Amino acid sequence: MRVTAALARLGTETAFDVLARAVALAESGRSIVNLGIGQPDFPTPGHIVEAAVKALRDGHHGYTPANGILPLREAVARDLLKRRGVEVDPGRIVVVPGGKVTMFFAVLMFGEPGAEILYPDPGFPIYRSLIEYTGATPVPIPLHEELGFAFRAEEVLERITPRTRLLILNSPANPTGGVVPKAELDSLVAGLLRHPEVAVLSDEIYARMCYDGLEHASLLAYPELEDRLILLDGWSKTYAMTGWRIGYGVWPAALVDHAVRLAVNCHSCVHHATQWAAIAALEGPQEESERMVREFDRRRRLIVRLLNQLPGISCVMPKGAFYAFANIAATGLRAVELQDRLLEEEGVAAIAGTSFGLFGEGYLRFSYAASTEAIEEAASRMRRFLERCGVEKQSG
Ligand code: PLP
Repeated sequence: MRVTAALARLGTETAFDVLARAVALAESGRSIVNLGIGQPDFPTPGHIVEAAVKALRDGHHGYTPANGILPLREAVARDLLKRRGVEVDPGRIVVVPGGKVTMFFAVLMFGEPGAEILYPDPGFPIYRSLIEYTGATPVPIPLHEELGFAFRAEEVLERITPRTRLLILNSPANPTGGVVPKAELDSLVAGLLRHPEVAVLSDEIYARMCYDGLEHASLLAYPELEDRLILLDGWSKTYAMTGWRIGYGVWPAALVDHAVRLAVNCHSCVHHATQWAAIAALEGPQEESERMVREFDRRRRLIVRLLNQLPGISCVMPKGAFYAFANIAATGLRAVELQDRLLEEEGVAAIAGTSFGLFGEGYLRFSYAASTEAIEEAASRMRRFLERCGVEKQSG
C-alpha cells in the first residue's frame, strides 16, 4: 500500500500517548497520579444527560441538517449575545463533532503548499500538526512566561507576510493557562487592519474558565474582523462533555458554505440527541458548570503554591483554563526526560512542554482537573524525586 506523504506529516497529541502509558502502568499494579490529560474530572450535569435520553425516547434518531438543528443554532446565537454581547445570525453557526473539527476545517480551507499559517507556541499540538498536513508552512508565535504566557501583538504582526493566510489564536490557552490581555488584542486587531487578506481562527474553548475576576475578551466582539473571523467554541470543557463530541464554529458569511460542505463530506451531522443535550446545557441551570469552575480555581491556587515549593521548579499563576505550565529549567533536566522519569519512577503523569512546540522546552504541563488528593500526592512524589536527583531549592 502506498499512503500519501501528507500522512507522514500528521502529528499527534502526546497527552494521549502519556495517558496510554499511565493506564498500562496502572494496569500492571502501579499507583499512578494522572495530571496529564486535559478534561474535567466531573460528570456531565444530570439535566443535560436527561435531555439526551429524552431526545432518544422522542425519536430523534435520524440525520439532521449538516450545520446542526435550527433550535440549537438559535440557542448558540442567544448564548453568544448573552456572554459575548454580539448578535450572530444562526446561519453563520456550524455545529460539529467537537471543538477540534472547526480547527480542522479552518486549516483545510487555508493551508496548502506556499501558504503560511501562524499559531501559538507553546500551543495546542493539533494546530501545527494540521498545518503541516496541508503542506503549509507553520509559523510559530512565541508566548512569553513573563507576560503570563500571552503574545506581544507586534510579534504577531511582524510575522505576517504576503503568504500568510490564517492566524490561529487561543485564549485562555492550552497548555499554559495564559490569557491575552484585552489591550494586546486591541493592538493586534488594529494592526490586522493593514492585512485584510489574513483570516483569523480564535479558539475560545476555555472562554468560561477565567479566574481572578478576569472577563473573557472575545475576538468576536471586534466588528472589524467580522468578515474574516472564525470563532471556535463548544461544550467539552464548560459542561464536562468531552466524550459527547459536539462543538461549533461561527464562520464569516463567505465561508459558511465551505464549512457545511466539508461537514457533509466528513461526518454528515452531529449525533442528533446530543444536539438536544447541547441546548439543555446552554439554556438550563448553569450552577454545576459554575461550581466546577470555582473548584478549578481553588485547585489552581493549590497546585501553583505546591509547585513553587518544589526544588528547581517555579510556576506563574495561570489566569484561565485548567493547566499549570511549570518552569523546570532549574532542575537541569530536559522536559521529556523529566516527564518520562516522573511517570516511570514516581507514577506521576504530566506532559513535557515540548509536546506543545519548541518554545515549550524547559516546562512541564500539569492539568489540575484532578482531585485535591491527587494534586497533593503528585507534589509529594515530585519532591521525593527531585531530592533524590539532588536538585536544590533556589534561593530568592
Ligand atoms: N482547543 C483547545 C485549545 C483544546 O485544548 C482542546 C481540547 O483539549 C480542543 C480545542 C478540542 O476540544 P474538543 O474536545 O471539543 O474537540
